[in-house]
Parts: sequence; C-alpha cells; structure tokens
Amino acid sequence: MKKFGFIGLGIMGHAMASNLIKAGLDVTVWNRNLDKCTDLVASGAHQGKSPKQVAETCDITFTIVSDPTAALAICEGPEGILAGIGEGRSYIDMSTVDDETSQTISAAITKAGGRFLEAPVSGTKKPAEDGTLIILAAGDKSLYDDALPAFEIMGKMSPYLGEIGQGAKMKLVVNMMMGGMLSIFSEGMSLGLKANLDGQQILDIVAAGAMTNPMFNVKGPMLLNENYTTSFPLKHMQKDMRLAIDLGDKLNLTLPTATTTNESFKQARKAGYADEDIAAIYKTVK
Ligand code: NAP
Repeated sequence: MKKFGFIGLGIMGHAMASNLIKAGLDVTVWNRNLDKCTDLVASGAHQGKSPKQVAETCDITFTIVSDPTAALAICEGPEGILAGIGEGRSYIDMSTVDDETSQTISAAITKAGGRFLEAPVSGTKKPAEDGTLIILAAGDKSLYDDALPAFEIMGKMSPYLGEIGQGAKMKLVVNMMMGGMLSIFSEGMSLGLKANLDGQQILDIVAAGAMTNPMFNVKGPMLLNENYTTSFPLKHMQKDMRLAIDLGDKLNLTLPTATTTNESFKQARKAGYADEDIAAIYKTVK
C-alpha cells in the first residue's frame, strides 16, 4: 500500500488530510504546532516527527502552508523535506505561492533525486471538507498520474496545467479576480445600506441576475450578519493579491484594479482583521 505524508494542518490541510484518512489511505501527518495532529492521529493517521522523516518514509508527501516563506521553510534545514527526499520519493506542494518559489523548490527536489509537482487549490474550507476542491497541478506528469487517486479524494477537478509555474500562475490569476470581486461587492453593499436600501433585497436582486455567483451567495449573508468566521484568512488573500501584482510587474502589465484591491486588503490587515475571513474587508468600507 502506498504511503502518503501530509504536512501543514491549517484550515485547508486539516480537512484535506482528514479526507485522505477517511478514504482509508495510509497517511502520516506533521504540523509545526503538533496539537493540530492529535485528532487526525486518533482517526488513524501516523504521527510524523519532522518534514524530513515524513518525506523519507512516505512515497508521496503533500504540503499546504501559508505562503512562500513557509513553503521554503518546510523544505530547508536539517529537518526539512529536502533532507529526506530522494530516489523513489515524491513531493507535492499545494500552498499558494509565486511561480519563482515553486521553481526553486522544484529544482531542489529534482536535484536531490525526487519528483515534484505544484498543486495549489481553488476552493475554501467547505470544499476542502467536502472533497470538492479544484486542484491546479503542474510539473512532473508521472507524479500527477500517481497522485490522481488522492487528488480525486480531495477535489472534484484536477486539471494538469503543464510545466512548473503554470499551476502557481493559474491560482494567482483566479484569486486576483476573486479579491477584486469581493472588494467591489463590499463597497456596493456598503453604499446600498448607507443609501437606505434593504440589504437582503440587494442580495436577492444580485442573485437573480447575471452577476450571481456562489461567493456572493455565501459572503453576502456574512456581511449582513457581521459574521467573519474564518474560512479563508484575509492575510492569505492579501498575499495572493501581492503575488499576482508581482507577476504583473514581471510581465510589464498594468493591473490598476488589482493594485487598488491590494491596498484595500492591506488596510484591512492594518486594521487588525488579518486572521478573520476575507469578508472582513467589508469592515474597512462600511
Ligand atoms: P492557515 O489555516 O493559516 O494554516 C497555515 C498553515 O501553515 C499551518 O499549518 C501553519 O502551521 C503552517 N505554517 C505557517 N508558517 C509556517 C512555517 N514557517 N513553518 C511551518 N509551517 C508553517 O492557512 P490555510 O487557510 O489552511 O491556507 C493554507 C494555504 O492554502 C495558503 O497558501 C492559502 O493561501 C491557500 N488557500 C487557502 C484557502 C482557504 O480558503 N483557506 C483556499 C485556497 C488556498 P501552524 O499551525 O504551526 O501555525
């Protein structure tokens, strides 16, 4: 039986690892704060000792952590993935990072004899729990083929996007659009309420027309109820806006709306909403 490793048990990783365990796979888990492993170990996972030990004892190790700094930290050092990877072992990073970070990790893993795939995910806490994520895979095609049964447990769609970097870029493009949509949605709701319109009627009218989408349907009631329970931490959305804008810079592309949206998310971080849901951007405009 294939052995899988899972590193990074935050909002997303915990739900994704849980689905692999429930499906009967042999899973070893590790998280920087080890407390987050406890219930998964109680449901049948093995407790990993370090990223190194997970990588050297598992056929395929998945990671999903905060940002480029965290993704590199998991790889580097005497207890990192790189110290444990080698011939016959594989690494899949599902964190949302920029393409350069992914290239760096890919080059290091490949040099050490392992196979590498980047596979950031689209979808938030609920799709992670339901196993309905969209997994944006790119890199080693043979590893993609080997990982597909696990992807099918965690997601509803796992397109193969080609060479390393293509998954990271696809993820940033999608999230840049999402951040912009949420920002203007918050401003529209705020304007409507200030102008004495009924909030539920605004949501119903938007939902009945061409602009309807699952995100507005979920975030709309959250804004009206002032409920910012975290599915997608606001700080991660701001990181994605920043990385998308950096990509635009490299490609000499002006992104005025994304740039303004990034400033709004930065303002929300500064106001103390970093760990609340992305919907908390509304608090900075209302
Ligand atoms: P989260 O709940 O904030 O969890 C972050 C994880 O990263 C935790 O396991 C944390 O460990 C770990 N971590 C952070 N810095 C680290 C470091 N220096 N060394 C080792 N581990 C470190 O985040 P999340 O919402 O699950 O998101 C994870 C990734 O998925 C991010 O790249 C995010 O952009 C992306 N994503 C999130 C969503 C969403 O809706 N939440 C959707 C799509 C993609 P500790 O527990 O020890 O702090």
